[in-house]
Amino acid sequence: MGKVLIIGAGGVARVTAFKCAQLPEVFGEFMMASRTKSKCDAIAADIKAKYGRDMATAAIDAEDVPALIELINDYKPDLVLNLALPYQDLPIMDACLATKTNYLDTANYEPKDEAKFEYSWQWAYQQKFQDAGILAVLGCGFDPGVTGVFTSYAAKHHFDKMHYLDIVDCNAGDHGKAFATNFNPEINIREVTQKGKFWEEGGWKYTEPHEIKKMLNYPNIGPRPSYLIYHEELESLTKNYPSLKRARFWMTFGDEYLTHLRVIQNIGMASIQPINYEGKEIVPLQFLKAVLPNPGELGENYEGETSIGCRIRGVKDGSERTYYVYNNCQHQSAYDETGAQGVSYTTGVPAMIGAMMVLKGEWSGTGVKNVEEFNPDPFMEMLNVHGLVWHELHDVDLEMD
Ligand code: NDP
Repeated sequence: MGKVLIIGAGGVARVTAFKCAQLPEVFGEFMMASRTKSKCDAIAADIKAKYGRDMATAAIDAEDVPALIELINDYKPDLVLNLALPYQDLPIMDACLATKTNYLDTANYEPKDEAKFEYSWQWAYQQKFQDAGILAVLGCGFDPGVTGVFTSYAAKHHFDKMHYLDIVDCNAGDHGKAFATNFNPEINIREVTQKGKFWEEGGWKYTEPHEIKKMLNYPNIGPRPSYLIYHEELESLTKNYPSLKRARFWMTFGDEYLTHLRVIQNIGMASIQPINYEGKEIVPLQFLKAVLPNPGELGENYEGETSIGCRIRGVKDGSERTYYVYNNCQHQSAYDETGAQGVSYTTGVPAMIGAMMVLKGEWSGTGVKNVEEFNPDPFMEMLNVHGLVWHELHDVDLEMD
């Protein structure tokens, strides 16, 4: 039995905590600590009511490294799960180093003053984590996360060499709001307004935001306009699978969403440069976050489903093969089980499974690793058991040129 400390109390943290509560034989004890303790307490009360289990709670500013070290030393978890924001990745990794505690997150570090998605800052901790004899599991949500595990599963079982990878992320859900983001609005808008970027023939190619569009068919959903955007797992997957000649990431956006996004950008509300407003410094994007719907509260009326997967072309036993592995997740069933919508669910479940892999010793070692560097098989098995059933199609048209 293990003991984990969850940092953050948003939609993703809620799902992970619910899932830990369902598995007392793995997660003997668990604590949630976040900036606003009342949010942790509300989740703890829901868990107590549903599963009869106690979850400890605490207030923490995860950017205050000494306070975090004190909390970790008091609670003594086997693993810290960072389910707060990417800004907190490095301070939490510093606290894990100081206390020799394993670390896991779902999104790569971003500096607050620059929307830049790179593993460089976290990969730089490799030697320090090895020297301390501890493990950091990076990017263990769905994308990044399951998409990396899907890719390593394909490499292990279905290809001798993979040449083309397209990760496809469709949210065909309807939450009934004119505009809302499915996870933290600040992080989400930073991600989707950046320039497009993909890997081809040994280097990065850049596009204007949403410049490349394709109509792709998603299982059980049908055709949806899908846009090439940059996503962080492309960096680690192209490094770990050098046979890839091209790697791209596609995400669906509705016209209404893109129109709102364009207006938000045109009027300067997506800016991360601080401005002075009536004597107080504010960041427009952070102000916007405060007035947008809370993603954690979209669940109740959310209908439809997500479909995220990997479409891969390569060679096996001398023949050209294609492979499509994906999961579809219903927003309503995620909400019925955990009180959170599908995007929180598809992130929080893999974070729990990653934690389980570390606690059970299925994923082990020291240093800083991306999920595709571990054995995919036990993780894939647990996805089917814990609510994210996956499917695979062989030798189908991947709709990619
Ligand atoms: P939310 O915004 O709902 O929750 C974030 C939580 O972190 C809040 O409880 C917030 O506290 C807390 N927090 C923020 N700053 C600090 C701090 N300095 N110290 C302590 N706690 C802090 O986000 P989500 O739950 O939607 O997303 C969580 C993470 O998951 C994000 O990093 C996101 O990028 C990642 N993600 C990954 C995905 C994947 O597939 N890999 C997909 C979706 C999300 P407060 O309540 O006080 O604001």
